[in-house]
Amino acid sequence: MAEQKRDYYEVLGVDKNADDATIKKAYRQLAKKYHPDMNPGDKEAEVKFKEASEAYAVLSDPDKRRQYDQFGHAAFDGGAGGAGGYGGFDFNGADMGDIFGDIFGDLFGGGRSRRANNGPMQGANLRTQVRVTFEEAVFGCDKEIELTLKDECSSCHGTGAKPGTSPVTCPKCGGKGQVVYTQQSMFGMVQNVRPCPDCNGTGKIIKEKCPDCYGTGYIANKKKISVTVPAGIDNGQSIRIRGKGEPGVNGGPRGDLLVEVIVARHPIFQRQDMNIYSTAPISFATAALGGAVRIKTVDGEVEYDVKAGTQTDTRVRLKGKGVPSLRNKNTRGDHYVTLVVQVPTDLSKDAKEALRAYDDIVNGKNPEKPGKGKKGFFDKMKEALDE
Ligand SMILES: [Zn+2]
Ligand SMILES: [Zn+2]
Repeated sequence: MAEQKRDYYEVLGVDKNADDATIKKAYRQLAKKYHPDMNPGDKEAEVKFKEASEAYAVLSDPDKRRQYDQFGHAAFDGGAGGAGGYGGFDFNGADMGDIFGDIFGDLFGGGRSRRANNGPMQGANLRTQVRVTFEEAVFGCDKEIELTLKDECSSCHGTGAKPGTSPVTCPKCGGKGQVVYTQQSMFGMVQNVRPCPDCNGTGKIIKEKCPDCYGTGYIANKKKISVTVPAGIDNGQSIRIRGKGEPGVNGGPRGDLLVEVIVARHPIFQRQDMNIYSTAPISFATAALGGAVRIKTVDGEVEYDVKAGTQTDTRVRLKGKGVPSLRNKNTRGDHYVTLVVQVPTDLSKDAKEALRAYDDIVNGKNPEKPGKGKKGFFDKMKEALDE
């Protein structure tokens, strides 16, 4: 394949700085114009279609576009022995799936949407949300949610046909629920399967509809469902409840219910992964002298011994007071507490005096005579400030 390849930007007729939307639009226009379905037997159109598809496959992928901008066509040459007929560019399945879903989804109908067959098919998943408190997320809880679930209509047993009648086999697809058509693509002829448009893929046509379910085959019921929220769940995570989604088709199993957990904010605690963060005020005296403080944790208040000489914004760790691991609730994160030293306000007369005396001592004025009182100065001050 030594032929001269055209520049991808030139192929699509876009500027080198074109954004994604412009590139997509340009490709759509070319694809419509040159698609083999629109130009049966036209070799030139086929070549142009392939050329445009290849250009789009590269330029629509940020990584590949960067490589192409840097190295040109050489970026995709050689490599795995120059495999593939198009300059070694690897048109792997994923790329093409994306492109066709993206571009041809609405162009040729159907796209990559659900598989069309009339065999048993699992029902679609449903999504809902449940709100829990901070503590409920930490320790787990049981919640009841109410939602509307579809059940098979008991009058027609899910067929949708009026009782006493039955659906007839769809003449268009012969009951297969899908129609096969052949399409020319850049890989040659491909067979494409689409849901039958007449019976919507069910293979059956209902002549007289069931009056109870209006021919849908389903009745909607409000259901209460209990949800076990596991300890350690975080905001935005989902719980899967099997078999509580949409009913299956043709005897297929029900889909699942996905319950997204919304965790309320806590006035004191913040959480990051398995750790909890909070701040706790400590008095100036406790910070200076050390002493026990009570700190709120999700397990209730705990006593913590503050070291003498603790500065404000000192962070201490309460080991194992964090959030349990979702996998093993016996493994817990930690609780980090930032100790914030409070500057006292609204001091009593005694406290003010004590503080002034303290200040004098610190500044070397009027030193307190040792042995004057039984209690040391710091003890007195602590009492006064801790009021
Ligand atoms: Zn019915
Ligand atoms: Zn049909």
